[in-house]
Amino acid sequence: MNVLVNAGPWLQVPPPGYGGIENVVATLVPPLRERGVRVILASVGSSTLEVDELISVYDEGRFSELQKPYNQVMGIAHAHQAMVARELARRDDVDLVHDHLEVVGPAVLAALGGPPVLHTLHWDLRKHAAFYEAFPSSIAVNGVSESQLRRAPDALRGASLGAIHLATPMAGREPHGPRGERFVVMGRVCGLKGQHVAARICQKLGLPLVLAGPVSGLGSQAELEIVAQNPDHPLHGHPDVRYHLDVVSAYLDGDLVRWVGAVEGAERDELYASARAALFPIQWDEPGGTAVVEALALGVPPVGLRRGCLPEIIDHGRTGFLADTEEELAEWLQRVDEIDPEECRREAARRFSPSVMAERYLEMYETVVARSRR
Ligand code: UDP
Repeated sequence: MNVLVNAGPWLQVPPPGYGGIENVVATLVPPLRERGVRVILASVGSSTLEVDELISVYDEGRFSELQKPYNQVMGIAHAHQAMVARELARRDDVDLVHDHLEVVGPAVLAALGGPPVLHTLHWDLRKHAAFYEAFPSSIAVNGVSESQLRRAPDALRGASLGAIHLATPMAGREPHGPRGERFVVMGRVCGLKGQHVAARICQKLGLPLVLAGPVSGLGSQAELEIVAQNPDHPLHGHPDVRYHLDVVSAYLDGDLVRWVGAVEGAERDELYASARAALFPIQWDEPGGTAVVEALALGVPPVGLRRGCLPEIIDHGRTGFLADTEEELAEWLQRVDEIDPEECRREAARRFSPSVMAERYLEMYETVVARSRR
């Protein structure tokens, strides 16, 4: 089967550091290829993932431009989608498009009458509810958790083939050395991920906490300061930047609670693997939760609020803890050593491995292709 996997123009695949969708694609493609799928990756020129063909319109990822005015952002997305559409128009060897990009793209691709499209939903769907209400029923979609689909608009739920959880590789993640004292929040710094709640709890309990992750694409204190000191900077009023400067910063004392900026590569793995626990004080219905699955794979117990996909991923009391309130979260945090790291790793290998994810996608691809032939 020839599958065109559309990862979009925002980051290279695999992403060097932060990157949600691009991470998913980098995890999925190798086991698909091992199972005989020929993959044409639509991404940016600097992508290094091993594929059968790479097609791109941009040489480098355009992530930093996501902060530009809406019409410019859409211009970038449209140029990429137009490239994909041109490619599909000129060739007849693509059996299926697996689209990860954005809501409008698949509708356009389907309207072109090309190969069938499976669109993976990566978002909190209520944000795009109006669009999805009018989603063409010819497009197959899948979610990344049951909870995400339960909250989806009706039309979309009807088009859905089900949920496939996110996955992460286990290789190279063998435990090496004792677990540290530090708690970690790994993720974009923004109100939805709730770093301030983790910071507040750890301050109160005197527990060391490291917050790792970019703030609206800004990866370091120096970059953040340039924006903070310049009211004319386009990011100065950005909600995530304001969240860091006005809310999270109040808890950062450079000692007990620290923000280390965006981390990548070996530094990220080391920081995460040596954590005592991974905290998810989420303030939204997290749709997929790659960072939660990664914590399990590393044998780092995840402790979070019972929202979104977390109850599907974390088995309370066995592979981590789930809390309903901030107070409860603080209590479980102190009991986290009761969780067996090996149990976390076994769970990740059993339920969230790349081969489990690839098998499920292959089944879905076959369903979509068979349906289109009918
Ligand atoms: N991440 C990273 N460096 C950071 C912060 C996050 O590499 O400084 C990675 C993290 O390990 C995970 C991804 O970015 O793989 C975030 O994905 P997730 O689904 O958890 O969050 P979202 O897609 O909502 O940002």
